[in-house]
Amino acid sequence: MTDITNFIRPEKPLFLAVEHPFEAMMSRFDYAAQLLNLDRGLYKVLRNPDRQIIVSIPVLMDNGEVEVFTGYRVLYNTSRGPGKGGIRFDKNVTLEEVKALAAWMTWKCAVVNIPFGGAKGGVVCDPMSLSVGELERLTRRYTAGIIELLGPDSDVPAPDVNTNERIMAWVMDTYSMHHRHTVTAVVTGKPVEMGGSLGRREATGRGVMIVTREAVRHLGIDIIGATVAVQGFGNVGSVSSQLLREQGCKIIGVGDISGAFYNKKGIDIEKALEWVRTNRTLAGFPGAETMEPEELLELECDVLVPAAKEDQITPRNAEKIRTKVICEGANGPTSAKADPILQEKGILVIPDILANAGGVTVSYFEWVQNRVGYFWSLDRVNDRMERMMKESFDSVYETAERYKVPLRIGAYILAIDKVARTLKLRGIYA
Ligand code: GLU
Repeated sequence: MTDITNFIRPEKPLFLAVEHPFEAMMSRFDYAAQLLNLDRGLYKVLRNPDRQIIVSIPVLMDNGEVEVFTGYRVLYNTSRGPGKGGIRFDKNVTLEEVKALAAWMTWKCAVVNIPFGGAKGGVVCDPMSLSVGELERLTRRYTAGIIELLGPDSDVPAPDVNTNERIMAWVMDTYSMHHRHTVTAVVTGKPVEMGGSLGRREATGRGVMIVTREAVRHLGIDIIGATVAVQGFGNVGSVSSQLLREQGCKIIGVGDISGAFYNKKGIDIEKALEWVRTNRTLAGFPGAETMEPEELLELECDVLVPAAKEDQITPRNAEKIRTKVICEGANGPTSAKADPILQEKGILVIPDILANAGGVTVSYFEWVQNRVGYFWSLDRVNDRMERMMKESFDSVYETAERYKVPLRIGAYILAIDKVARTLKLRGIYA
């Protein structure tokens, strides 16, 4: 056992001058670990990923040429259970980014108290330029390349940026073919017809809506008529907009890869979704005026939901943000250096590891249903998720109040404490 009297006490503070995703995660981790007086040995363990795999993925392209792609899978920590976390397909994905995302998954699963560790995967590719056949061959070969990590008890992937149910079906099938029997619980976010859970597709956006509702209630803002701007109109952004609108919010701004759109009377989200279904992006949507993409984040509103990518709110624009609440639908949308600026401005930030945890919570339900072989109704899924999100919000809020820190650091404290306790009970295997 490590010596618990040996506490870390960094001399210097709290936010490092960095913007790199892993460093950004680490600077918050260090701050929370310091406030927790985390044991030095545990601190060292939790600063490092358990395993990192890099694979070359040869794919026969439609033109008869072979291309080789690079893929990653990082298991950050598995002391609380199997690795859990999505796979993203993106041109710019790096091992450092995947490592940060895997660490965030570790804290996220602990915040919502589900029995998983944290993992993440990524393949460097431009999915928009691949045919369906190429995408399938890429997915299957990547799955085969990381197969020794995968398994319902060891590592369970899910969708993330640019991956979806169909891709999860190929992951499940490839794994099952290697194991000579069907293993549904090896991956979550599958199509409902083949073991997916009802409510999984909407789960992240539903979770965003639930914690936003809790936050505005704490601030005494009426949800009916509250103005909202949403960056990102993929799965998370579109469902969050839809459900917040159902709660009575006015969605005054939305944006996607094609641009940003504004309507002070409120955007008809159903119409925008219909437009995207036929046109792929919001470009040309007639129900709103266009504006510069950076203006979307700077709109005066009650709630801002960044639901696109990392590092959108940085010291470059943090000063110009005019919202009361930021609900982080994406992973890592706020850089570490922007945190103190937002805090200074009195903006309540619902951190990613709480705000977007509805997705992994329903992934957990999917895994449970697959293992038991008994499927739940949509009401049961949604009720349980809502209860868990509210409880997690309250725990983060109480922790933040107790330590007199922002919600983000409260969430890290809660998560690190849970992971560290498990690690301590398990001990260091020698
Ligand atoms: N990719 C999602 C996330 O970042 C879901 C992960 C999962 O369900 O395992 O939380």
